[in-house]
Amino acid sequence: MTGVLVIGAGPAGLAAARAALRAGASVTLLDSSDQLGGQYWRHLPDSRAGVREDRLHHGWDRFRALQDELLEHPGCEVVPSAQVWAIERLDEGLVVHVHVGPPDGNRRPSRELTPDAIVIATGAYDRTLPFPGWDLPGVFSAGAAQALAKGERVAVGGRVVVAGAGPFLLPVAASLAQTGARVLGVYEASRPRALARGWLPRPWRLLGATSKFGELASYALSHVRHRIPYRVGHAVIAAHGTDRVEQVTVARLDARWAPIPGTERRIDADAVCVSHGFTPRIELAIAAGCDIRPDRFVRVDDRQHTSVPGVFAAGEITGIGGVDAALAEGAIAGHGAAGGGADDPAVRRDLARRATFTDFAARIEAAHGIRPGWTGWLRPDTLVCRCEEVPYGRLRETGRATCSTSLRSLKLSTRAGLGICQGRVCGRTVEDLLGRESPGGLLDGTSTDRRPIASPVRIGELAAAHGRHTSAATDAARHQHQ
Ligand SMILES: Cc1cc2nc3c(=O)[nH]c(=O)nc-3n(C[C@H](O)[C@H](O)[C@H](O)COP(=O)(O)OP(=O)(O)OC[C@H]3O[C@@H](n4cnc5c(N)ncnc54)[C@H](O)[C@@H]3O)c2cc1C
Repeated sequence: MTGVLVIGAGPAGLAAARAALRAGASVTLLDSSDQLGGQYWRHLPDSRAGVREDRLHHGWDRFRALQDELLEHPGCEVVPSAQVWAIERLDEGLVVHVHVGPPDGNRRPSRELTPDAIVIATGAYDRTLPFPGWDLPGVFSAGAAQALAKGERVAVGGRVVVAGAGPFLLPVAASLAQTGARVLGVYEASRPRALARGWLPRPWRLLGATSKFGELASYALSHVRHRIPYRVGHAVIAAHGTDRVEQVTVARLDARWAPIPGTERRIDADAVCVSHGFTPRIELAIAAGCDIRPDRFVRVDDRQHTSVPGVFAAGEITGIGGVDAALAEGAIAGHGAAGGGADDPAVRRDLARRATFTDFAARIEAAHGIRPGWTGWLRPDTLVCRCEEVPYGRLRETGRATCSTSLRSLKLSTRAGLGICQGRVCGRTVEDLLGRESPGGLLDGTSTDRRPIASPVRIGELAAAHGRHTSAATDAARHQHQ
């Protein structure tokens, strides 16, 4: 029997595990979280038992059905709180290194897995472009605000502004309103022409996505009911306050997202939630040796197979298409990992759904993709890397002074992206800004996504690693010195 390891139990990983089981494989499903469901389906803490968990969610019944089937299947081992911290490439194949237990736990048991096939479904981080004042308490990524609303029923503030780009702003505003916040406005950076360019062409292709229309209608209704204004071509370009956010400046943007002088206006607010899309979480795919496309998603074929034999990828790490794309890709990947064919009847429906929602991903990028004029709202003292407190001015001066084309050397010179988040928050922005200063761009072929150690590991845990661990540990040590 084929042994399939699925890393990540969000929509893509859950669908992959189920498809692999149905195709006759045995499955190990790991997730670093203590619950299944990923970023989309979140759970209330035990202290909130009794509150309806499905509120603020879409497709909760679908989640319950997926979860129940996996938990009840004798061929499925579900391991929550399981952090994959490295994937090691040996001559005999890939070794997946896992710690099981709470992230801050001591002496966590470790496991090394050598499955026949792997499905990587590690999702994405939400991306926030920096602006003056974004380091003040009261500024949240929209994903964090959504996680608190769904997972704790907590609104991040009383008077909240939601800003950025993309359809994700809508559920976030709806959740905030339903958890008691007054949402003062949703400010979408893209202008009407860009939105039309992304969403209007070939409308018949959207017909397969009827589930999205229902979701959209529910957000629109919530906006009307809670009187939430929605403005396009606007951005929050600064947050102000002494110890926390007290006001934000909103401005109109031109087509390149540069603020139009004279259109700035201050709004009293105690919180602002910002999202400019998502960054795929590809460190494990890189560690496994998978090809990464120029747009930084994992390259897959029709079966969701990566460039590495036996390694499949699904969900946000292959493109930002939302939950439906993740479910369809997961099912195709799991089926393939178990040895199934690309056009078996079992996955025919998923192939059609994937085509619909891959189209969705392209529309999101065309309509809401980041435009270069956003740097117009930065000031020399605006922090770009919050962990290491690196301001925009220092990044620019260093880039110009050294004329270096090496990301690695520029990171070492500026310290940007070397802090506790290891570039998960600022990495893409640091690359973008440094690339603009280097004549010809950054040329050393590295990226901030390369993290051989995918999650924090205690020195004691590393020291305990021996034998087969050796090369991963050596790589880690090398990485620490970079
Ligand atoms: C903070 C946040 C909130 C979001 N909320 C919504 C929302 O409310 N509505 C919406 O439409 N979209 C939301 N999205 C977008 C959403 O992620 C997707 O549409 C959908 O969840 C993608 O499914 P996925 O399976 O690809 O990834 P995910 O749902 O992100 O699942 C990936 C899983 O992989 C696990 N994982 C990652 N790395 C490791 C590792 N090294 N070891 C073990 N496990 C690992 C994670 O814990 C996670 O559970 C959100 C995204 C983010 C970042």
